[in-house]
Amino acid sequence: MDLYEYQARSLYPKYGVPTTDGWVVTTPEGAADAATELAPSATVVKAQVKVGGRGKAGGIGFARDPKAAGEAAREILGMDIKGHTVQRVLVTEAVAVSAEYYVSVLVDRARSGYLAIASAQGGMEIETLAATRPDSLVRAPIDPLQGLDLAKANEVVGAARFAPEVAGRVAEILVKLWDLLRGEDATLVEVNPLVLSEDGRIWALDGKVTLDDNAAFRHPAHTEWRDAEADSPLEARAKAAGLNYVKLDGQVGVIGNGAGLVMSTLDVVAYAGEKCGGVRPANFLDIGGGASQQVMADGLAVILGDPSVRSVFVNVFGGITACDEVARGIVEALNVLGPAADRPIVVRLDGNAVTEGRAILAAHAPPQVHLEDTMDAAASRAAQLAQG
Ligand code: GDP
Ligand code: MN
Repeated sequence: MDLYEYQARSLYPKYGVPTTDGWVVTTPEGAADAATELAPSATVVKAQVKVGGRGKAGGIGFARDPKAAGEAAREILGMDIKGHTVQRVLVTEAVAVSAEYYVSVLVDRARSGYLAIASAQGGMEIETLAATRPDSLVRAPIDPLQGLDLAKANEVVGAARFAPEVAGRVAEILVKLWDLLRGEDATLVEVNPLVLSEDGRIWALDGKVTLDDNAAFRHPAHTEWRDAEADSPLEARAKAAGLNYVKLDGQVGVIGNGAGLVMSTLDVVAYAGEKCGGVRPANFLDIGGGASQQVMADGLAVILGDPSVRSVFVNVFGGITACDEVARGIVEALNVLGPAADRPIVVRLDGNAVTEGRAILAAHAPPQVHLEDTMDAAASRAAQLAQG
């Protein structure tokens, strides 16, 4: 689970990571009040969305006084940032910045270890920097058994050529971020920017933390954040129905039964989509072994609830749940959904009772349902329909 910036920041004090005070508010009046309490002189009003690049998208406002903080909040609240609607802003006291750095620690699955990344040139251009001057970003593998101690942190900071007057302090912060990563069972802790203020102090002014969901049971304190995940109504709906739903950023909704089939369906759709102007999967949903009518109805409702879906590919291999039941599930689901099922649905059925299943769809499914015999043909059809 990704955390909002304000949630990530709330973990900092426990580990001694220096950060500015802030209030989370949902109204312009709240923002003005927060500014009055925090720093009547200057504040930063920051969109709270689980996506990067808020600064560039206009989601960060600077305000000289509480009135301006209210106005900034009025602009930012309700804003759409890469498909995320801003429902809350964080109001923090503004720091006069003299240098911006980048530091992160994360799980490095490819190397079965951890990685520490540091750059003496942080800020909003870090992605460009990583692409154009990769040498300015130091990536240091961390041995999971040794961890990131101060000696190692000094090595990383030295390699990244931080100015001598801050190097020691940045190294200490790197160790604290490591402690946070391990202590909270996070897979990523990223601070961009970590700054040197004009009065010579170091501050973590942003925070991106991803928690390892498999360790949730060890962290009762994280429960409230987990509950608030209902911010993504589709994910909450899928979870409530016991379905595994993952949002991607293409146009074809994918439903399949079983993780292996779903994964290969994503590949086939992406492949077919290359011939259709780069159409890609919009999301996927694994309805598991028991692809019953109810499950199919829930699944289609979730997938069609995503406005970026332009066509749906239902790819089911009948096993314990036979194809005729799946076919009835699709017909029933479309009845239940009614006008909400307003986009083309390509179905490929195979396996147990396939003949009966296809016959049911041919006889009873509405015209927006297209039957295909093979996975490849269905993927091409779905991609074409998404393009058209
Ligand atoms: P992001 O764009 O989503 O990563 O949002 P950030 O929280 O990193 O803010 C974007 C940029 O705003 C940072 O890189 C800073 O340059 C700037 N910024 C954020 N807080 C402050 C602050 O307190 N003072 C100053 N001067 N700049 C800030
Ligand atoms: Mn940032």
